[in-house]
Amino acid sequence: MVYLVGAGPGDPGLMTQRALELIARADVILYDRLIPAGALDGARTDAELHYVGKSPGSESVSQDEINALLVEHGRSGAAVVRLKGGDPFVFGRGGEEAEALAAAGIAFEVVPGVTAGIAAPAYAGIPVTHRDEASAVAFVTGHEDPSKPESAIDWQALAAFPGTLVLYMGVRRLSEISARLIEAGRPADEPAAVVERGTLPGQRTVTAPLAEIAEAAAEVKPPAVTLVGPVARLREGLAWIEQRPLHGRRVVVTRARSPARSWPRSGREPHASSARGAFSPM
Ligand code: SAH
Repeated sequence: MVYLVGAGPGDPGLMTQRALELIARADVILYDRLIPAGALDGARTDAELHYVGKSPGSESVSQDEINALLVEHGRSGAAVVRLKGGDPFVFGRGGEEAEALAAAGIAFEVVPGVTAGIAAPAYAGIPVTHRDEASAVAFVTGHEDPSKPESAIDWQALAAFPGTLVLYMGVRRLSEISARLIEAGRPADEPAAVVERGTLPGQRTVTAPLAEIAEAAAEVKPPAVTLVGPVARLREGLAWIEQRPLHGRRVVVTRARSPARSWPRSGREPHASSARGAFSPM
């Protein structure tokens, strides 16, 4: 059995109960780069852990190789967890992995995860829909090169879309993306926001009108999502994390490792992640 499991956007507290259960049972775990810190802490000590993520600038395992590994381990009868950031079926190529398993006749289960396109805005104080401001939301990949003629993205249709646009990836292409949208008719003064490292310690949010968002977010690095729509304005009144007393502070817990790991958890503040006794609540 192969489980295609979403690990959520980064805050370990946003992993599902099903994900934690399956990690604890798995014989084999194939995991990506963007999984929460400590996500594998509950794995069995004798479980086989394989990193198959793509790290910028280094050799990475190709999608075909990942599919082949899933099929091979699935065939062996092992309980296999394929752990992916966010939701496995939202820009995670989980669909392709499921197809490879289906083609090989291997049983699989899909465990949805909290997707970054909803969670990062939520932690920035931006609801992706709102009764007065947005009745629809579109998830879009910004990974496409907007200048290539055979682009899979219909910028005209997206500009006309009556609701919030949430763009995954492509934060480095923001100037072309925003120019394309404006050229296609999206208002240049529409509110926009970029959320970097959403739900993680060090989360950062930049807001600006669409025409200025690329410049405002020039320093932002992946992972980040970009949101375009009037709901971005709501952040002014709803930015809840920034109001917390420990926001942006690092706290060192001077205790032995094992109590120090559980202590930050007891308050269950989002962003309180423990790492060798130190954690960074926001
Ligand atoms: N399956 C994932 C998305 C994978 S594509 C999901 O459902 O969330 C990777 C993209 O997701 C990144 O380029 C970025 O746009 C977004 N992303 C993932 N984690 C993020 C985070 N913590 N904060 C902001 N964006 C994130």
